[in-house]
Amino acid sequence: MLDTIISLSGLSLFLTSSNSWSTSLNLLFFSLTWGILILSHPPLRIELIGTIVIRIFTFWIPSILFLIFDALFPSLSANVKLQLTRAVPTSQADLIRRSKIAGVAMGNMLLGLTLQGGIEYILVHVLKQKSMLRIASTLPLPGELIWGVARSLILREVLAYYIHRFALHASKTQLSRYHKCWQHSVSAPLSVVSHYDHPIPYLLYRWMPVMVPAMLFRLHLLSFYVLLIAVSVEECITYSGYSVIWSMLGGATKRTDKHFATGGKGNYAPWGVLDWIHGTTLGSDVKEDVEEAVEKHEARKEKKERKERKERKERKERKERKEPNETKERRRLRRRRKPRSSDDEGIDLYFPV
Ligand SMILES: [Zn+2]
Repeated sequence: MLDTIISLSGLSLFLTSSNSWSTSLNLLFFSLTWGILILSHPPLRIELIGTIVIRIFTFWIPSILFLIFDALFPSLSANVKLQLTRAVPTSQADLIRRSKIAGVAMGNMLLGLTLQGGIEYILVHVLKQKSMLRIASTLPLPGELIWGVARSLILREVLAYYIHRFALHASKTQLSRYHKCWQHSVSAPLSVVSHYDHPIPYLLYRWMPVMVPAMLFRLHLLSFYVLLIAVSVEECITYSGYSVIWSMLGGATKRTDKHFATGGKGNYAPWGVLDWIHGTTLGSDVKEDVEEAVEKHEARKEKKERKERKERKERKERKERKEPNETKERRRLRRRRKPRSSDDEGIDLYFPV
């Protein structure tokens, strides 16, 4: 297990280089290491350990850091929380409850992981079928990777919206009761709350929308890892409840917060696209987020252009100020090189007098 973790960690090192000339070389090494890893370890072990490593680094470490920050600096944290003091722990009991929420969230994630491993095991070893994810020694082509991740995220948004709205917030079903009593017992979200729920709503709303597209499109394992990174980062940030998150993620964070503050009256999907289409958005919708992002981009672009114009002007002015000196210098040089008079022309060696 340890050697698989080390190999997987080594793979990430190849991708962190920012030097352009070494990118091709790194990709070659990455490809070779990936091939060796696949050929030397059982595929199921690579799939599960990779999933755990990604979840730890992109979800658990930042989520726990957020929890520690809230606990150590509650007044500072309240200043950057959307629900202000309501969102920070104020007593020992609050801290214990938060720890319990994190424990349940971890248990749910392990449940999802067990299910993922169980399905793979049954498919490959019992039914003798292809694995759920494509585990190949070759890397996916960039187009295949991008398209695989993009369509999985789109399908995830669709599944999450309809499951959350019609199964978990439908009127008085057992599922909606579970969702209400577990996840909606928290009125101000925290990153760990994204995985805190009764196990059945959890598997339906959190696990299925990621795994179903991955299975349906039979993603390459690396594409699945990229999808998992994107989903983990999004879950960690949009459930954080912080008001200082910028760009589109900031809009999604505000919408998630509103979903909790209103007890689930709207904002059912992570990116808010289907909420906007169905008119279930609470607060600013995804269209406004896009407009805001475009406006900010335009403002940044204009600021950059203004700065460049100012720099050009300053350079020009500096050049003009220097010019008289240069002219003087040139004049001095010209005087020095001035041809000597005919009297000083010296002796003609070929026709001596
Ligand atoms: Zn809900």
